[in-house]
Amino acid sequence: MTDRDQRPKILIVDDNKENIDLLMEMFRDEYRVSAATRPERALKLARAESPPDIILLDILMPEMDGYQVCAALKGDEATRNTPVVFVTAVSEVMDAARGFAAGAVDYITKPFHPPVVKARVKLHLELKRKYELLESYAFLDALTEIANRRRFDQVLDDELNRAGRSQRPLSLIYLDVDHFKLFNDTYGHGAGDDCLRRLAKALSEALNRSGDFIARYGGEEFMILLPYTDAAQARHIAEQLNRVVDALAIEHPTAPSAPHVTVSMGIATVAPERATATSRAIVEAADRSLYAAKRSGRHRIETTEV
Ligand code: GH3
Ligand code: MG
Ligand code: MG
Repeated sequence: MTDRDQRPKILIVDDNKENIDLLMEMFRDEYRVSAATRPERALKLARAESPPDIILLDILMPEMDGYQVCAALKGDEATRNTPVVFVTAVSEVMDAARGFAAGAVDYITKPFHPPVVKARVKLHLELKRKYELLESYAFLDALTEIANRRRFDQVLDDELNRAGRSQRPLSLIYLDVDHFKLFNDTYGHGAGDDCLRRLAKALSEALNRSGDFIARYGGEEFMILLPYTDAAQARHIAEQLNRVVDALAIEHPTAPSAPHVTVSMGIATVAPERATATSRAIVEAADRSLYAAKRSGRHRIETTEV
């Protein structure tokens, strides 16, 4: 099978090869299946670039028992959300409670009843898929379908940490639509919503470096995060975004600054030696820049170094 194989992936962990064969036989038609007989190998496969969607984990293994393997999986950010189903002999069912405490979502018993085993695996894969879908919605802005503020807060923290580790600069652009209340008053709220959608789309498309990130921060406010970008480069990108918005030429005849929709931007750049700055400090600095841009007439860009 090629990389395009989209079937869910199952990892079977069992020191007994016969059990592995039995389970493999059950799943190989519908799923991609891999197996490990040793805990270290199992942990490695679980953290691989293309990780399993579910893990079937034997409880009794010689070197490290299933509870320990499960605890290790649940303690690692990379594997925390991978569902673990314990595999236990009927006589050991009492141990299932301990399995749940270790973070397992379910257990199946030996000897296997294939229809039950298959149904349970299918159920947990379906739950995982739904959970991921919900999670992705929770980070998406419903109006513009770009990232929302909650997602922005996460990404900003991650990028600040990364900037600190790599000793590289990080820039943030705080963008606010000019005279947008007036736009709504002139054309109505529906047209205002359309305008925000068009802006989000055009701005996203204008950001073409991988790692650049845009989110809707609030009503008519967007945040653009630029990793590995110093103040001069950030200004260059902001000017480009400004041209993109101007080129949309969304009519706004009542606006005092221009007859079309314009934006103001405040940039904050964290220099590498200041990468210990907090996310709050960088947002506040960008906000101050934005305020300066507004006060000096709108449709312009101001910069602050943190
Ligand atoms: P300024 O140039 O100083 O930024 O003026 P402004 O009118 O853009 O700023 P203000 O903060 O006074 O008003 C923001 C407006 O944005 C008011 C609010 O009704 C509108 N707005 C916020 N969220 C949405 C939205 O989701 N849809 C629409 N249509 N309008 C929104
Ligand atoms: Mg605003
Ligand atoms: Mg505004």
